[in-house]
Amino acid sequence: MTSQIKTDLDIDYRLVFLGPPGSGKGTQARLLASRFGMKHISTGAILRGEIDAGTCLGIEAKKYIENGQLVPDHLVRSLAENAIKSEDCKGFILDGYPRTIQQALWLCEFMDAEAESLTAVINLTISNEDVVSRLSQRRINSCTGENFHLSNKPPPQEQSKFIVIRSDDQPDAIRQRLKIYHELTHPLVEYYSKKKLLIAVDALGSFGAVNSEICRVLNFPG
Ligand code: AMP
Repeated sequence: MTSQIKTDLDIDYRLVFLGPPGSGKGTQARLLASRFGMKHISTGAILRGEIDAGTCLGIEAKKYIENGQLVPDHLVRSLAENAIKSEDCKGFILDGYPRTIQQALWLCEFMDAEAESLTAVINLTISNEDVVSRLSQRRINSCTGENFHLSNKPPPQEQSKFIVIRSDDQPDAIRQRLKIYHELTHPLVEYYSKKKLLIAVDALGSFGAVNSEICRVLNFPG
């Protein structure tokens, strides 16, 4: 991959961002996708949109999300595949999909059928203690979806009426999400490592430092 130096700002890499809740993968994926002209595909954000719209899928998904559980595989599969298939999607960053080995197998099948393949999988690493500390201070703008952190990136005063705590950032749900991550999602590290796609990035540094490191390992312009 290091030989593919890209200088234009329309990068067609097909990336997966892996990492526990609170590793910052959503914030990094969103920024990199918009900067380099890739589509940011967050199954969590799509599911929250379904909940807000009161669809049948949203009503079903809400029960799992609020308890820190994964939404069943078959419910998220088509959300991810439809997003990848959409016309505005050449390069993409998948943020929060796949989350189980079953989802990874489906993704592989889907990419093969499209005669495409993943470029790389970025694994953002962080300890459980740092996850709990980050998530308990996370706030979100309910209109824009932008994330804030009470100490490191406090929400601007003028947005205060839109600032909420995600229901799955409550302490019990955080613990549950971490447990689920280690049981069901962490096995993907070995899965993608065996496929020689995995690149580990330490997620503990500042947002800018982690961002630069991701750009460096992907050979993106800094
Ligand atoms: P996120 O915004 O990525 O943290 O996702 C929020 C919640 O949505 C997760 O805790 C899961 O309940 C659900 N979710 C998002 N993506 C998936 C997925 N690929 N598989 C199952 N559940 C998902």
